[in-house]
Amino acid sequence: RNRTAVITGASSGVGLYTAKALTSRDDWHVVMACRNLEKAEAAAKEVGLPEGSYTIMHIDLGSLASVRQFVTNFRSLNRPLDALVCNGAIYMPLIKEPLRSPEGYELTMTTNHLGHFLLCNVMIEDMKRSTYEDRRMVILGTVTHNPDELGGKIPPRPDLGNFEGFEKGFKDPVTMADGKAFEPVKAYKDSKVCNVLTMRELHRRYHEETGITFTSLYPGCVADTPLFRNHYPLFQKIFPIFQKYITKGYVSQELSGERVAAVVADPEYRQSGAYWSWGNRQKKDRKSFVQKVSPQARDDERGERMWDLSMKLVGLA
Ligand code: NDP
Repeated sequence: RNRTAVITGASSGVGLYTAKALTSRDDWHVVMACRNLEKAEAAAKEVGLPEGSYTIMHIDLGSLASVRQFVTNFRSLNRPLDALVCNGAIYMPLIKEPLRSPEGYELTMTTNHLGHFLLCNVMIEDMKRSTYEDRRMVILGTVTHNPDELGGKIPPRPDLGNFEGFEKGFKDPVTMADGKAFEPVKAYKDSKVCNVLTMRELHRRYHEETGITFTSLYPGCVADTPLFRNHYPLFQKIFPIFQKYITKGYVSQELSGERVAAVVADPEYRQSGAYWSWGNRQKKDRKSFVQKVSPQARDDERGERMWDLSMKLVGLA
């Protein structure tokens, strides 16, 4: 196993099954970057990751200090970095008040975006040191980032505004990127727009110089992952059924993992700057295609502003 991939949030759902799909290919070793080591170990055993094909390391994406510590620990393994999969995320639809990171930032945006933004910017140095010519950074997107798509039309819609909240320092009393009132579902969607903007900015800034492929994808509606654990129990019951039989958007965790692994490793996904999708209605052997991202996510000016302000928030500028 001479290729190394770091996958964040590999203790459940899409990340776990990505680890499974990648380690089923003989050349990949997976570093599972997780906040709960026991849970990750149990999950790895449960899905049958081959012995010796994975290493579990601690990261709390909701703490910038922890992200930095992860990188230090990773470096002590003396492994090259050939792929980075930014997958970990939280979705807290029912909370009334924002949670905060140790730095004082709103926690959904910190976990899903700022933690990964820092990780990508620091680990690009590790990737530059790898001699493998086909290195990739993959950031999970979602259909709900895009109000132009049916799955993205349900309110509240994401809106980063002019990043007024980031500009003000993103600490109490600020709760949202646009500086407006706290809305936890919008916070998740906003963070996912930032994920896509990050991928596109990384591509614009680093693809030519480094040869690294930067991509994002929507793996389909993986309606029965624990992502929805903080929703009403009735929602958790009905959502997968609705997606399976009404919208036909449902994708199994296993298939979502295979899709991410393909974007990490298969030659046909070596297209930097691309956002991959398999469409909203799943059919057997559905083919992937490069999909247009939302108006805010394809706005280069907004991308630059996101970049500059996120650099400040994570302490890199
Ligand atoms: P899960 O809740 O199953 O997995 C999320 C993972 O992130 C878990 O391993 C979780 O760890 C980890 N995580 C959460 N917070 C932190 C943290 N602070 N530090 C480190 N790890 C953390 O969700 P999914 O598998 O569904 O989602 C994975 C990705 O896929 C997300 O980026 C999501 O936006 C995206 N996605 C999901 C879709 C879906 O329908 N499910 C559709 C489109 C995109 P722990 O096990 O400890 O909680």
